[in-house]
Formats: sequence, C-alpha cells, structure tokens
Amino acid sequence: MEIGKRVLVTGAGGFIGSHLAGFLKKRGYWVRGVDLKYPEFGETEADEFEILDLRRWDNCLQATRNVDHVYALAADMGGMGFISANHAQILHNNSLINIHTLEAARVNGIKRYLYTSSACVYPEFLQEDANVTPLKEEDAYPAMPQDAYGWEKLVTERLCNHYREDFGLETRTVRFHNIFGEKGTWEGGREKAPAALARKIAHAKLTGASEIDIWGDGEQTRSFCYITDCVEGLYRLMVSDHYEPLNLGQDRMVTINELADIIASAAGISVAKKHIDGPQGVRGRNSDNSRLREVLGWEPEVSLEDGLKITYDWIEEQVRARLAGNDEDQTLSKSSNP
Ligand code: NAD
Repeated sequence: MEIGKRVLVTGAGGFIGSHLAGFLKKRGYWVRGVDLKYPEFGETEADEFEILDLRRWDNCLQATRNVDHVYALAADMGGMGFISANHAQILHNNSLINIHTLEAARVNGIKRYLYTSSACVYPEFLQEDANVTPLKEEDAYPAMPQDAYGWEKLVTERLCNHYREDFGLETRTVRFHNIFGEKGTWEGGREKAPAALARKIAHAKLTGASEIDIWGDGEQTRSFCYITDCVEGLYRLMVSDHYEPLNLGQDRMVTINELADIIASAAGISVAKKHIDGPQGVRGRNSDNSRLREVLGWEPEVSLEDGLKITYDWIEEQVRARLAGNDEDQTLSKSSNP
C-alpha cells in the first residue's frame, strides 16, 4: 500500500469516480477530484475538488499538477440510449479529454496513469448471439466496435500503450463490463439498464402500476458488476505490474428480463414486462475473467442479488422523494433505458 501518495481522479463528480475518491481516501491517499460538476448524490470525499473542463489543454495541465497517479474516468457517456444517439459528440469530447489529459500527465511527470476503457471495444461480430462466448482481452482485434464510444475507447487504449512504450509513462487500462450501484445516474437519459429498471420498478411499486417498459424482447444478455468490486479492482490494477488491457466485471450472464426479475424481487413486487422498440446494443456480452484472476489474484465478489438490493433501495428512495415533489411525473416510468 502506498500511503500518502497524491492521486488525481478525473470524472470524480460521476458515479464510479465519486466512489473511487472515497475508496482511495480510506486507503490513505491524498485525492484531488476533477469534473465538470460536483457529485450529485452527496459530498465529495476528495481532499480537493476542482471544476474543470478536461477537453481543454490548460485545464488538463492544471488538473495533473503535483500528483503521482492519475485515474482517468472523465467521459461524456451514458447508457445505450445515449451512446447510440450521440456518436459525434461522444467521439469529439472524449477524444479531446483523453488526448489532453494523457499528454498533460506526461508533461507533469505522472508516474502511473490508469485509463478506464469499456467492454464496448469488443467487435460487434463476436456479440451477435445472446448465448455469447465470454470475451477475452485479445478478442478486441480485429477491431469492429459497434459505436463511436467503443472506437474512441480503443484508440485511447492504444494511445496509452504508445505513451508507455515511447515515453515510459506507466499506463494501466481497464475494460469495465456494466458497473452498477447506488449514487449513480438513475434518470434523465444517461442512466444504464440496472438503474433504469430499478427506477421503473420503484415507480410501479409506489404508484400501483402493474407494468414496466423494456427495450426489445429483453432476451439480450449482459453481466453486471457492483461498484465496490469495481473500485477494488481498479485499485488492484493500478498497483499491479500489468499494463495490457484487463476486463473488470462479473462473468455471470443474465438476460435483461432476468435482471428485471431480480430487481422486482428486491422491491418485493412482481410486474408485467411490456417489450417496446428501443436501442439494445449488442445481442450478448459477457466477460472472460481468466486473465483478471491470473493477474490480480482476485475477482468481483458481490452477488448480483446483493448489489441490486442495495442499488434498488437507494433508487426507491430517490423515486419516492421525486414523487412527493411531483405527483404527475410520467418520466419516471417511461423515459429511456432499457
Ligand atoms: P459518469 O458519467 O457517472 O462519470 C463520468 C464523469 O465525467 C461525469 O461526472 C462527467 O461530468 C465527467 N465529464 C464529462 N465530460 C467532462 C469534461 N469535459 N471534463 C471533466 N469531466 C467531464 O460515468 P461512470 O459510470 O462513472 O464512468 C466512469 C468511466 O468508466 C468513464 O470513462 C466510462 O466511459 C467508463 N465506463 C463505465 C462503465 C459503466 O458501466 N459505468 C462501463 C464501461 C466504461
């Protein structure tokens, strides 16, 4: 453990970044958080928090000053609804953020740099079947990600690798597989499937509705990883010697219909599923965790049921508060994802 080191977490106002800042504080790190916004669901636990737009080079230089390690989480992103409808914005903004943050880290003599990539880098042609073969790290090539989001992640993975080879900057690259948990976006269009389903189910429970919308037939498959496992894995990767991209997720694959059933059970209700048109992403995706186990001597531990129960309870509280403020808010049950 490297007590006393100074770290920067970019995207520290977001879901994973705000949890990571707290995790690193508890391990004795001095933490600077940077984001366009403060965390929405509680005070930051970072020692210092700066509001900076990391698309700008001067802001990236400021963000990376006087720190040893950078956890690069800032990104313009969201669930499938957002990712499938904003290709130009995502590619433009995330390219600027990552190119400038990485170069600023080099200029400021950062020792280690962890980049948060995504399972969205994997080729679409390997994910056309709901009963998909779990994806190994080397499956990313030949490259054919489905969306601009995945292409940008893949290019930045390569940029990190070249900075390590050409400039000796120690880079680490993680590929997340659907991270979920409390204190993440749960409404508004950027929320992901677990949060969106929890919101719809909480709304049904609190209003007596009997049905929720699900995009597609609900037979598309994914694996889902709880936030405490995510930040533990991030930290373990940062302090490891492994510089190639590494999957970080659960390897238990469920359908979106099954995910909805687990959440409904956490809510203590049963709901009918109305399948409607909507973006679904790839048909099937699962993580092959062989290398994760080998490299980190560890793998995610929190069960889907346990993680979803905590997440659901938190989202039910948010929905209850929202309903108390606005009796007619239809968006809670109808808006985006999945
Ligand atoms: P998030 O949207 O909650 O957090 C990202 C944060 O980046 C936001 O708070 C946002 O305001 C900030 N940001 C956006 N543009 C910025 C800018 N120009 N300057 C500074 N900050 C900016 O997302 P998250 O779920 O916490 O994801 C964190 C990272 O992990 C992202 O890079 C994301 O692509 C990656 N990732 C997440 C998942 C997941 O399941 N959550 C899966 C794959 C990859």
